[in-house]
Amino acid sequence: MELLKQRIRQDGVIKGTDVLKVDRFLNHQMDIDLFDRIGEEFLCRFHGCGVNKILTIEASGIGIACITARFFHCPVVFAKKSQSSNISADVYSTKVRSFTHGKTYDVVVSKEYLHPEDRILVIDDFLANGAALEGLFDLIHQAGAQVVGAGICIEKAFQPGGDLLRKQGYRIESLARIKSMSEEKGIEFVD
Ligand code: 5GP
Repeated sequence: MELLKQRIRQDGVIKGTDVLKVDRFLNHQMDIDLFDRIGEEFLCRFHGCGVNKILTIEASGIGIACITARFFHCPVVFAKKSQSSNISADVYSTKVRSFTHGKTYDVVVSKEYLHPEDRILVIDDFLANGAALEGLFDLIHQAGAQVVGAGICIEKAFQPGGDLLRKQGYRIESLARIKSMSEEKGIEFVD
């Protein structure tokens, strides 16, 4: 998606070798006109797939998921990072290792909000090692629901998550795929 790539070139800040900060338009301040175009693009890609629910993970996926849901006319569920080690029987739970914080979290969704008849599109801001998506797919499988695929804003294609999950048969649609990035040379996209 050219508009998103342009915006990343213009406003993205590279930290070290593998972290991209997009706080100017996506992760802190949010450009809602851009989010609208992103939601529309996800609809283009997953149109006709029978999506009836969107699942994301708190916190940075929630804004994009909500705007995307306006195009699909469906509810958004966000998986919660649980502080307590006491997981109740009323939730599906999984463990996710956070790329940005290096910690492992319990991530939960109430059983009330995922059902076997659901066809679920997962939305997130970044794809790196794939832990967040794997965790969300696990929650969907626990509910007996269907994973339609994942819509990702920025995939760091030099990290293994995207290839790994595509090899497992999941449909992963990323709007901007980064081939390489460095503070010295900037960002190169896959296509
Ligand atoms: P993964 O689980 O695929 O390793 O990482 C994806 C999650 O980590 C996303 O939900 C995102 O919040 C965070 N993340 C991964 N890489 C980056 C990055 O370069 N920049 C930012 N801002 N977040 C990232």
